[in-house]
Amino acid sequence: MALWTAATEADTVGGVPARFVAAPADTAQAAEVLRAAAADDLAVVVRGGGSKLDWGMPPRRLDLIVDTRNLTGVVEHAAGDLIVVVRAGTPLAGLDLGDQQLALDPVRAGATVGGTVAANTSGPRRLGYGTVRDLLIGITVVRPGGMVARAGGKVVKNVAGYDLGKLFTGSYGTLGLITECAFRLHPRPAAHALVVRTAPAGQIGALLAAVRAEQVVPAAVEIDAPAEGPVTLAVLVEGTAAGVRDRAATLEKALGGQATDEFPPWWGAYPWTGAGMKLTAPLSRVPDLLSHGVALRGSAGTGVLYADVPVDAAPAVVERLRAAAIRAGGHGVVLTAPPRVREQVDMWGPVPGLELMRRVKDQFDPGHLFAPGRFVGGI
Ligand SMILES: Cc1cc2nc3c(=O)[nH]c(=O)nc-3n(C[C@H](O)[C@H](O)[C@H](O)COP(=O)(O)OP(=O)(O)OC[C@H]3O[C@@H](n4cnc5c(N)ncnc54)[C@H](O)[C@@H]3O)c2cc1C
Repeated sequence: MALWTAATEADTVGGVPARFVAAPADTAQAAEVLRAAAADDLAVVVRGGGSKLDWGMPPRRLDLIVDTRNLTGVVEHAAGDLIVVVRAGTPLAGLDLGDQQLALDPVRAGATVGGTVAANTSGPRRLGYGTVRDLLIGITVVRPGGMVARAGGKVVKNVAGYDLGKLFTGSYGTLGLITECAFRLHPRPAAHALVVRTAPAGQIGALLAAVRAEQVVPAAVEIDAPAEGPVTLAVLVEGTAAGVRDRAATLEKALGGQATDEFPPWWGAYPWTGAGMKLTAPLSRVPDLLSHGVALRGSAGTGVLYADVPVDAAPAVVERLRAAAIRAGGHGVVLTAPPRVREQVDMWGPVPGLELMRRVKDQFDPGHLFAPGRFVGGI
């Protein structure tokens, strides 16, 4: 049987057309595909749901798209241990684990488990449950060249010296193909409530400090700041019905806000239309990122916000936002932008540890066959 088929016009990554597409159904088939691809010196990009395929730079070279659409389903749900092992192509939103949950918010429609790990995306509830790195306890990958490696929970074998799960989280598909992930699960909470307050940007710092001063253990603290005008703050609490009622009442008082069980329409959605940035800052400095005349949205509870960069003013706005984030002690990365913006801006900004990242890349993918050029520093 042929390992891959001819690509169609739709099979492009960042505007670069592929020649072939493979859709292996399990780790063994994926290993066979990648062994043959390496033998033929094919440059590979992995495609999950395609929801973030426009992030990072276009590949320098592209021959084969390895699509994970057939790599789906739950391999094992150990409910007593609160663990799930799931294939990488499984849509995050479609995971049904009964009264348990994988507490990763699907921040883009169609996102797969593997793509979420590879792009290290997290949504509002990251404050309560942690990031991909916190929830991922094991991983199976196929390395460029076809060698299978497993690490972590449900352990089989570790690749000496590396914590593979942490390394592959946020690797943008540059180190190999993720085929299976093992995650820690949480019980589904019985009840939730949101306390919402809209206020001028200048008051947000005090309101956030008021949330931090209360012992209400929020699962998320989100803000939605349009380019101009007042900012909306929404705090999510989860737990037993009685506990949620008490904590929501405490927050209503602290914020002068209103409790509801409805999520606002902007909850967990990126704010951008053309170009988008991720900005980070320590919690106390989050207010410094507001009032730059740009729409911002995201987690004031973890200091990770997303900005809608107007395409026509992109170079200046990117520099301004990045400078504000760096002054505040964080950083600013352009996640996605149309080609003409990519040509004008530095997508990544200053990158500490680039030499180390290059060495890791060389070790895992000596032929630079995996997503060449997609990541920082041309990795
Ligand atoms: C060129 C470049 C390449 C990168 N490559 C990668 C990569 O391969 N993988 C990767 O993961 N990242 C990478 N990063 C970093 C990336 O941009 C993000 O900063 C990183 O993914 C964000 O990690 P984070 O979301 O955990 O936020 P962090 O940057 O860890 O946190 C943001 C801020 O929030 C605070 N904070 C976070 N969580 C909490 C909390 N629960 N409570 C209180 N405070 C909190 C932190 O102290 C920090 O100030 C790269 C960055 C650059 C510039």
